[in-house]
Amino acid sequence: MSEDFYEVLGVSRDASEDEIKQAYRKKAAEYHPDVNDDPNAEEEFKRIQKAKEVLTDEEQRAAYDRMGHERFEQADKRGGFDGGAGGAGGPFGGGGGGDPFGGGGMGDIFEQFFGGGGGGGGGRGGARQGADLRTSVTVTLEEAYEGVTKQLNITRPERCPDCDGSGHPPGADSRSCPQCNGRGQETTVRQTPLGRVQQTRTCSRCEGEGTLYDETCSTCGGEGITREDASLEVEIPGGIDSGQTLRMEREGAPGEGGGPNGDLLVEVEVQDHPEFDRDGADLHYTLPVSFPQAVFGDSVEVPTLDGPVEMDLDSGVQSGETRRLRNKGMPRLQRRGRGDLLVHIQVVTPRDLNEEQREALEAFAEASDEDLTVDQSFFEKIKSSF
Ligand SMILES: [Zn+2]
Ligand SMILES: [Zn+2]
Repeated sequence: MSEDFYEVLGVSRDASEDEIKQAYRKKAAEYHPDVNDDPNAEEEFKRIQKAKEVLTDEEQRAAYDRMGHERFEQADKRGGFDGGAGGAGGPFGGGGGGDPFGGGGMGDIFEQFFGGGGGGGGGRGGARQGADLRTSVTVTLEEAYEGVTKQLNITRPERCPDCDGSGHPPGADSRSCPQCNGRGQETTVRQTPLGRVQQTRTCSRCEGEGTLYDETCSTCGGEGITREDASLEVEIPGGIDSGQTLRMEREGAPGEGGGPNGDLLVEVEVQDHPEFDRDGADLHYTLPVSFPQAVFGDSVEVPTLDGPVEMDLDSGVQSGETRRLRNKGMPRLQRRGRGDLLVHIQVVTPRDLNEEQREALEAFAEASDEDLTVDQSFFEKIKSSF
């Protein structure tokens, strides 16, 4: 049993709306479940209804002719094509399907292309650049520091190799579009209070091509586009920050009418680091300092993304003070030099003292004949350093 809507109704591909309605009435009467005992009658009846519904709607019919049966059904199940209303939204518009940045570089960016009412207007035969596509990639802070080459595995639209993007086999029979008489454009004239308004627009039946083909390419279902897995390498420069986008030229959707491909935009996300907080090119690190270290001073090791470095702590260092290690931060993208590493001192108050420690501290407290008072201006200084 054929699924093709024209065959279901038994009409030719350029049947008029009246012919389609007539054929529908005849078929519906024949297969109506009330009058037909065949167990398949109900299903066939539904098929007939669906065929009539699509073929009597100008926009849906144009999409059906353009896409072929299979792809049309898929698009329909996904919640519908927008009938090529043109323009609105571009390739990222609407769609309603999933977050394109969800997969961490494993994105199926094919859907971006068809999600937003693809196709649109488009002049006859004009070369147009393909749409830009978006994906994302996640890197660690270490990778963002050094720069890294990442592999992107994506599924994207590519020009169908079997029909070279035309949507029909090279030898397919063709004929002039009856709706626009092969001109690719339709002219409508409306009478308005201000007079006659003449409007010319792209023919909805042939999408401006002026020609209808009897066969659609079976590989791409007539779209001229296939879904291909691609593996690309993207060079991520040292110093990259979250939210920055790299442009890979000509790696986007295929162009139309011989136009160039669009670009692939790769949004980079830099993961949070367990030790360093990033602020532009500067990094912040909290250094735990023991009570005796704070009192007597010490030489301590501070981790950096370039390996640990030695840092001298003066005696009497206070919790909340900051040391700036010049040029130990992130590289500055497209500029010379690096940011700084800001080391925030945090004196750790001892817990779970053993007997010896407790006695030593009690002796310390007794030896201090005045309260431990701290100059209030010290706290102000700390606050303003954040
Ligand atoms: Zn036409
Ligand atoms: Zn094809």
